[in-house]
Amino acid sequence: MWIAGSAVSLLLLLATRSWERRLDDKAGTLYYLRLLAPWMPNWHEGSLRTAEQEYLRIQPLSRDLDVSPTDGVIDVRVPVASVSDKLEERLAADDRATGVAVAPDILAPAAYALASKAVLPRGSRLLDFGNPEFAWQLGEAGKPPESRPGFLDVTPVRSEFDGRAGIHVHAALTGEPDFAPLPLRVQTRTVVGVVRDGVPQKVTVSTTPHQGHVHPAVAATAWNEAVRAALHESRDTPVVITSRVPKTVSFAAGYLLSPAHRRPGTARSLDPGCGLEGCSNDACLHPWRYLLPLNYNQRSGTWEPIWLLSEQRDPRELLALLEAAQ
Ligand SMILES: [Zn+2]
Repeated sequence: MWIAGSAVSLLLLLATRSWERRLDDKAGTLYYLRLLAPWMPNWHEGSLRTAEQEYLRIQPLSRDLDVSPTDGVIDVRVPVASVSDKLEERLAADDRATGVAVAPDILAPAAYALASKAVLPRGSRLLDFGNPEFAWQLGEAGKPPESRPGFLDVTPVRSEFDGRAGIHVHAALTGEPDFAPLPLRVQTRTVVGVVRDGVPQKVTVSTTPHQGHVHPAVAATAWNEAVRAALHESRDTPVVITSRVPKTVSFAAGYLLSPAHRRPGTARSLDPGCGLEGCSNDACLHPWRYLLPLNYNQRSGTWEPIWLLSEQRDPRELLALLEAAQ
């Protein structure tokens, strides 16, 4: 009797262990976020099916974006807010113990805006569905580049122009370093990328260590620092932001924009994000009142103003400010 009881206990123990191992093998919840125009290439039903083997739960959140400008502005505030609200709701109901991964399949400026509002649990991972090797921890962003041996550093390079106002920050972190000319004049431009002799080079962003690779955490950190420096300097002038970067880099850079995302929950600080304790510049305190994001229209090869969040100032107002200052 005693032996039979022990055997049952042993079987139960083994069953529990194997279930626990299965939990260990499978990584929590995957949030697949899609915010693209309906005609833009869809990220792979195949990748989603593979993910079903790897994750305990899949949460797809998807909205179509209308990226045709109306009165000169692409307005995607409603779909961005909708995915943002749903993400918050589902995260609140999620089992945090098993971990969270986010695969952003999102138009670059929308990924930036959405992430700046998101609150993700510590240890959350970011995935690029198009590249199964590309997965990294969001918490790695914001650390100094020295913590990433084996990867290239990212150097912001600043140039002065003949405009009387406006700061432009461009992140050039793909195989296509060139960018189409801006439809407006600015005073200064900072290009965040790998720049040699003033010329942005082709960049491979990857999580695999290699001398010629840039780690996505380093890319997102350098980009955020350049945006924050521009906001600090801007006073009342708009900060135009453009980018050609991998999707997880856009997401992480937007996440870093919120100072609350860059320090542990208990640490108190009066640094609004620019690095200066107690800085009271309005642009540092309220970045979305000064940021003027432009979306790259792949069909026409031009940059178009995009309105992403309710707290963002109407891009047309900022454009008018820029015009008036020239
Ligand atoms: Zn500041």
